[in-house]
Amino acid sequence: MNPTTPEQPADVVARLRATFRTGRTKPVAWRTEQLRGLRAMLTEKGSELAEALHADLGKSATEARRTEIDFTVREIDHTLDHLADWLRPEPAPVPAHLGSDATAWTQYDPLGVVLVIAPWNYPAQLLLAPLVGALAAGNAVVVKPSELAPATSAALARLLPGCLDTDAFAVVEGGIPETTALLAERFDHIFYTGNGAVGRIVLRAAAEHLTPVTLELGGKSPAFVDSDADVQVVADRLARGKFLNAGQTCVAPDYVLTDPETAAALEPALARAVEGLFGTEPKESGEYGRIVNERHFDRLSGLLGSGRVAVGGDTDRAAKYIAPTVLADVDPSSPVMGEEIFGPILPIVTVPGLDDAIGFINDRDKPLALYVFSESEGTRDRIAAETSSGGLGHGLPLAHLTVSDLPFGGVGESGMGNYHGRYSLETFSHRKAVLRKPLG
Ligand code: NAD
Repeated sequence: MNPTTPEQPADVVARLRATFRTGRTKPVAWRTEQLRGLRAMLTEKGSELAEALHADLGKSATEARRTEIDFTVREIDHTLDHLADWLRPEPAPVPAHLGSDATAWTQYDPLGVVLVIAPWNYPAQLLLAPLVGALAAGNAVVVKPSELAPATSAALARLLPGCLDTDAFAVVEGGIPETTALLAERFDHIFYTGNGAVGRIVLRAAAEHLTPVTLELGGKSPAFVDSDADVQVVADRLARGKFLNAGQTCVAPDYVLTDPETAAALEPALARAVEGLFGTEPKESGEYGRIVNERHFDRLSGLLGSGRVAVGGDTDRAAKYIAPTVLADVDPSSPVMGEEIFGPILPIVTVPGLDDAIGFINDRDKPLALYVFSESEGTRDRIAAETSSGGLGHGLPLAHLTVSDLPFGGVGESGMGNYHGRYSLETFSHRKAVLRKPLG
């Protein structure tokens, strides 16, 4: 257990529950004070977090700001702007048999003590964005950063207690033993981001206490490229979405699905796109990240043989570097198509046409995101109507998750539940039904 949290998980939860029961976290003033404290910390000490993100993942300062720190600040600002509005009780029509003096409404109640378990790939954003929602909803919160991003975990454990009410908030650092110990406790909600194998462990543990769970998982997010699309525009946007954070993004386009002619045109276009982003030597570019650890480096290196290397392909284990890579002529049964890639390798799989593409997607697990590059409204509509995915992006990967008014989450194997903006309030609250009939 980390020295900043010497208490055992049971004691942490008991202490936070005692605070919650005093009612201290419920007033809107307490909630906004926490959010403002968090915001101030991010603006004043964001550089400490950015340094930690660089140490863990080789993230450039610009990328750390854009995808983790500023992202969270925007989420806070959006919540502060709208919280009072969102919390307003919503009237419901009352049926005639209850009389004209009866009224009914719904109101949001905080749940109690909630647990947020974060992964390593956006180790700040994916801990802080759920935290914003949990605090806005008036809960006491335990957060568990990922041990695979140790510098960020240490920075969060150092910085967060200084800006939040520590009677209602705690950081528990650690790996499997610490998380297992936490999961034995009774929480009022568990919010887990990570892989589906651990998602199942979380869900089983939660079942013991009938604790509701949000699972933000991953999977293979396809990018369908239609023959009518401008291949250079598509390649530029695909490369930007895929190679951000060295491909270690849950909503990164996992693979390209297109017809053989478009595939051939995409190869040189993707090469130009990669050069435009990172120059001729991505290894020397300060804007290109590194693989999180040797285990993932070895796993990803093993996938490079799944097709013809059309772009990139270089690796350096000591530097945990894998070049932005495009694999062509990829067989759907090859290893790279058997698991979520979660790294800078973009396979191109060819299908004869739209029907086959839709069939290909529907034959597999429901993805977290699906991207469509097509000028045809008919094609876009068909894919929207005939497939299921957590989110659907037309023409631009990743961007849907930056829209605070859209729910972010998966479906089926890619997860359950969602968050961001008012959807976070829904996730971390109970919507209570109230009926009032005057006694007179
Ligand atoms: P990870 O290894 O950091 O694990 C996530 C969390 O689970 C960590 O806090 C870790 O301590 C905990 N954990 C690991 N093993 C455990 C166990 N046996 N018991 C209890 N807790 C355990 O991260 P990861 O799972 O490698 O993250 C990558 C995956 O997460 C990918 O599949 C990716 O697509 C998915 N992901 C999803 C989203 C999303 O928003 N939907 C975002 C990022 C990542």
